[in-house]
Amino acid sequence: TVRTRFAPSPTGYLHVGGARTALFSYLFARRHGGQFVLRIEDTDLERSTAESVNAIMEGLTWLGLDYDEGPFFQTERFERYQQVVDDLLERGLAYRCDCPKERLDRLRDTQMAAKVKPRYDGHCRGREIDPEQPHVVRFKNPVDGAVIVDDLIRGRVPFANTELDDLIIRRSDGSPTYNLTVVVDDADMAITHVIRGDDHLNNTPRQINILKALGHEPPRYAHVPMILGPDGKRLSKRHGAVSVVSYRDNGYLPEALLNYLVRLGWSHGDQEVFSLDEMIALFDISDVNTAASAFNVEKLDWLNQHYIQHGEPKHIARLLSPHMGELGIDPAEDGPELVDVVMAQAARAKTLKELAAISAFCYRDFEDYDEAAAKKHLRPVARPALEGLRAELEMLALEDWEPETLHRVVERVAEELELNMGKVAQPLRVAVVGRAASPGIDVTLQLVGKDATLRRIDRALA
Ligand code: GLU
Repeated sequence: TVRTRFAPSPTGYLHVGGARTALFSYLFARRHGGQFVLRIEDTDLERSTAESVNAIMEGLTWLGLDYDEGPFFQTERFERYQQVVDDLLERGLAYRCDCPKERLDRLRDTQMAAKVKPRYDGHCRGREIDPEQPHVVRFKNPVDGAVIVDDLIRGRVPFANTELDDLIIRRSDGSPTYNLTVVVDDADMAITHVIRGDDHLNNTPRQINILKALGHEPPRYAHVPMILGPDGKRLSKRHGAVSVVSYRDNGYLPEALLNYLVRLGWSHGDQEVFSLDEMIALFDISDVNTAASAFNVEKLDWLNQHYIQHGEPKHIARLLSPHMGELGIDPAEDGPELVDVVMAQAARAKTLKELAAISAFCYRDFEDYDEAAAKKHLRPVARPALEGLRAELEMLALEDWEPETLHRVVERVAEELELNMGKVAQPLRVAVVGRAASPGIDVTLQLVGKDATLRRIDRALA
């Protein structure tokens, strides 16, 4: 069975690049009825933090990328790595090296001066080194031949063994190195498909050689091209929000971000909108582009708007609620049902944060009028309309405070004053909402409610 994994190093939050890698691994596993494993690569004790582990899991949970196994922590597997290194030593497939730093520096300088790629020269191969003295352990990489990485995205990528070092698999402090732990874990966890960023492509031939030394059939690899910022450089903090959780906090829907991420480097005809089920049914890792793709916020915004507008209103309301909370509004307390607000406003906002901001008027009086709107619509000529409306609205019974009746009231006042609808509705809207844009005036009044409507008209007339 297919088994994929996501193997983040917990040195920061889950960023969009990592999330896309996780998504691809997840989709591949789901599509093939396999398992998706989460492995935390926390061997770098200096840089790994528990907060980061939490942040990564929080991001995955929010996106709905549920894993079948894990999280496994590499720091809990040190004994296993030691055992593997000892075993390689015993079988003569690895060796101890005590080359002092000065020697290695000199070696590198000479190689650089000769314009050859710096690599360890195998000086300690075959030397006897006292295990009690400080040393590292190096993997005995094959000296000739080539490793062909048969990548599912990039095709066959050959590496000559002469290009590869005898790389360190155990440091002098006894800790295992990245290339060793990944290999041991991928083998022990029976990973069949390694899907990861193409910054790891150069590690792959080394990992394949170690896997072979351990007697394991290497998994299939798929190296995903990186994501670029608008300036063509690798997407990073410099380009603004890159953490998945910050997208949540800024009002993006997980389904929109997933949909956006799957389209970064992958397509299916000219379809833009994919539900998670569709992604699972249609996603094929070998269709992923080899070229890097650029992050495009407008497109993400477009998708987010789409999901806000077409999502199940109850679901959108649930996601919107914390953003109302951010504004100090508890929609459950009083005011209209949040789901009604969503239905009225969903077409007007790109993010939930915006949706919350433009919906606050349903729950509390706004602070300031939008200046331009007030200047245009709350002029003295608008007074008769507002006064007429106030008188009529005040007489409405609460059970008549619904769109149809409200619409008729506005229409009647307009007729009486021989004004067109806009000349009546716009002053009323600005009076009640503070801005010139809101849902239909009837729905707007319904959401605001009778008391607040009258109070706000008085404020505009004062
Ligand atoms: N821990 C590595 C990283 O975060 C990923 C290693 C892998 O996927 O093989 O870059």
